[in-house]
Amino acid sequence: MQTTVEPATVKTMVTDEMIRKAPKVELHDHLDGGVRPSTILDLAREKRMELPIDDPESLAAWFHRGADRKSLALYLEGFAHTIAVMQTPEALERIAGETVEDLAADNVVYAEIRFAPIQHLKEGMNLELVVEAVLRGLERGKAATGVEYGLILCAMRDQDAAVSLEIAELAVAYRERGVVGFDIAGDEFGHPPKRHLDAFQYIRNRNFNITIHAGEAFGPESIWQAVQICGAHRIGHGTRLIEDMVTHGTRIEKLGSLSNYLRDRRIPFEMCLSSNTQTGAAESLDSHPFNIYYRNGFRVVLCTDNRLMSDTSLSHEFSLAVKHFNLTFRDIEKLTINAMKSAFIHYDERVRIIYDILKPRYAKIREETNPYD
Ligand SMILES: [Zn+2]
Repeated sequence: MQTTVEPATVKTMVTDEMIRKAPKVELHDHLDGGVRPSTILDLAREKRMELPIDDPESLAAWFHRGADRKSLALYLEGFAHTIAVMQTPEALERIAGETVEDLAADNVVYAEIRFAPIQHLKEGMNLELVVEAVLRGLERGKAATGVEYGLILCAMRDQDAAVSLEIAELAVAYRERGVVGFDIAGDEFGHPPKRHLDAFQYIRNRNFNITIHAGEAFGPESIWQAVQICGAHRIGHGTRLIEDMVTHGTRIEKLGSLSNYLRDRRIPFEMCLSSNTQTGAAESLDSHPFNIYYRNGFRVVLCTDNRLMSDTSLSHEFSLAVKHFNLTFRDIEKLTINAMKSAFIHYDERVRIIYDILKPRYAKIREETNPYD
């Protein structure tokens, strides 16, 4: 007997097109790690700066090769070239605006962009001018695309603790104008966040938000410090928390007290699959602990880290997760809602984006494509 299936009842697997169309939320995207190669070339030409390559595609490939060397310190080398062309208000405004446009093209509806203002003072700007230029660019991008944003200001791990405090004060000073939190970035090894305690204490005293890069190039100790000493509300990466668990496949046999604490408290992990395999924080995608965390109820979120250096987009990160970890369309929706719940904008704004934008748009794609789950 022949069976015929009506098109409306045909179940579909998740496709790259569905992922691209799905509304997404980005919480960990470095401004200086996602610059358009063509913009780097334009700005370098303007200031007569030498670059190793002079066409956009080869330049992008050059950045990817530099990033993919299994070391966070080597991964970070490429940033010297992007930061070099981000030293004027015009350049910062342009790059911030283009960042929002690029995210919009990938159907990101809310994004938290981060950068370290201290790295943009080489040609005479002060910290306030730097932050205002980036905010102008983000606002312009929002006006053009409707993408909502929050800006996170980063201090650098290897810098003086007094500078970190200054950046923390800057973040709080701009909290009514688009800055939503404070982070500490840079090479983790040998630069523990607890050195910057005054900055974190300042942020906490002002009831503001903290995320900290931890558990990327260093183990659970770094994550413990970030949460328990510095007061992080979210963790950037958290990849090496896996060392605080006993696992069998994707099943957890035993959690250490830190892992239990993070799961119980619903502390979000901003996880970046491509970046982690390139820096060596994870050996391969298949062995990346994201899947173990996700299947066992940790609050995980997928992010890009650096779209240029890591040759990625948020859609690409989801596509990798679908291929390697069998995520369904419902998983993609859940991870996106997790991200929005974990955002640093206020609760009422998060709820509005979840119910007015994310849920209706997922429902519509579900209706159009009839995915398995
Ligand atoms: Zn990062």
